[in-house]
Amino acid sequence: MFRATIFTLMPDMFPGPLGASLSGDALARGLWSLEARNIRDHGLGRHRAVDDTPAGGGPGMVIRADVLAAALDAGVATDDSRPRLLMSPRGRPLTQSRVRELASGPGAIIVCGRFEGVDERVIEARGLEEVSIGDYVLSGGELAAMVLVDACVRLIPGVMGKTESGSEESFEANLLEYPQFTRPREWEGRAIPEVLVSGDHAKIARWRREEAERITRERRPDLLRRD
Ligand code: SAM
Repeated sequence: MFRATIFTLMPDMFPGPLGASLSGDALARGLWSLEARNIRDHGLGRHRAVDDTPAGGGPGMVIRADVLAAALDAGVATDDSRPRLLMSPRGRPLTQSRVRELASGPGAIIVCGRFEGVDERVIEARGLEEVSIGDYVLSGGELAAMVLVDACVRLIPGVMGKTESGSEESFEANLLEYPQFTRPREWEGRAIPEVLVSGDHAKIARWRREEAERITRERRPDLLRRD
C-alpha cells in the first residue's frame, strides 16, 4: 500500500484537501495511508525551538539539522525503503513520469520546509531528494507535498474508476491532452466538432492525436523534445 509520511511544522494542515473527493474516498477505503508528524515534537528547550538564524547572516530563519534529523530518526524505521523527499524550490521539477514511479512504489517520506528552508547538512546526511513543484516560491512545503501526494494517489490502482483512467491524460507520451466536449451538442452557437459525433472511432482517435500534437506544439514545445 502507498504510505505517505509527512514531516511538517503544520500537521493540522493534513489531510486538508487530500481528505476530500477522489483522494479522500481512497483514504477512507484504505487504498493509501497518511501520517503527519510534527517536527516541533523534537524541538529544543521549553519553547521547542526548531529554527535558528542563518550562518553567515541574512534574513529569515533556517530549520535546524539536529531537530529535523531527530524527527526523521524517530519517525522512520532504518529499513524503510520509501524515497525520502524534501519539498524545495531548488529541487528537480516534479513530472508525471516521476509521479508514476512514486505511485507504483511503497509511498514516500516527505519533509516540508518553512522559513528559509532547512540546514543543508541534514539534506545530505539523511539522503533527502529535493523536489520542486514549479518555478515559484511558496511559504511552506505543505501545499507542495499535497500536490505531490494527490498526483500519486489518483494513479494507485482502484482509486480512479475505469472511466477516469489516466492513460490518455496530459503528459502521457509527452503530449498535452486533446480538447474535451460534452452535451449539449450546440451551445451559444458553438457546435461539438463533427468528427466526435461521427461514431467513427479510428477517425476520432486520429483527430484527438492531431489536436494533442497541435496544442503541445503551440503551448509546450519543450515536451516534444523530452525522452
Ligand atoms: N529560501 C528558499 C529558496 O529561496 O529556495 C525558499 C524557502 S520557502 C519560503 C519555504 C519552504 O516552502 C521551502 O523550504 C519548501 O519546503 C517550500 N517550497 C516553496 N516553494 C516550493 C516549490 N516551488 N516547490 C516545492 N516546495 C516549495
